[in-house]
Amino acid sequence: MFGQLIKGLATTVRYMFRQPVTVQYPEVKRPVRERFRGRHELKRFADGQERCIGCALCAAACPADAILVVAAENDPAKPNSPGERYAATYEINMLRCIFCGYCEDACPTNAIVLEHQYELSFYDRRSSIYTKDMLLVPVDKGHGEPPPLLTQVQRRPSPPAQIDL
Ligand code: SF4
Ligand code: SF4
Repeated sequence: MFGQLIKGLATTVRYMFRQPVTVQYPEVKRPVRERFRGRHELKRFADGQERCIGCALCAAACPADAILVVAAENDPAKPNSPGERYAATYEINMLRCIFCGYCEDACPTNAIVLEHQYELSFYDRRSSIYTKDMLLVPVDKGHGEPPPLLTQVQRRPSPPAQIDL
């Protein structure tokens, strides 16, 4: 009994002189791993155009059916993206998302990226739907040039939306 008490006290004394392993969250935040998958961001090219071309491959790849993409034709005079189309609506339901990264893997233009932000909380279901305005990075955060193929596609006339047989 007495031996056990001494052993417990020795453990306490030993740890009194060690660096604490706890951090004062939220004032102090631990860096996450390089490959950590957190909140999504919709990226831009260096010229400010949106990388997303509204192809909806991310939505097709998503196993949780968390992504909604509604595409629209670009105005040739003032295109939003270098392709024929852009995402007029882009939403992710964060309550459904399991952060698997399949959407990132499926994206042909590296538009959707799971970044390192992990502080996600909401008070109601509606707030769990992250809209394009929330996901799209600011214009000055763009990087990389559009692939030549996308620029060629933009010059090609769009096919009619519906073909009458
Ligand atoms: S990370 Fe996975 S579950 Fe979340 S939106 Fe992307 S594909 Fe869907
Ligand atoms: S994020 Fe990528 S995969 Fe999804 S619609 Fe935009 S371009 Fe297509």
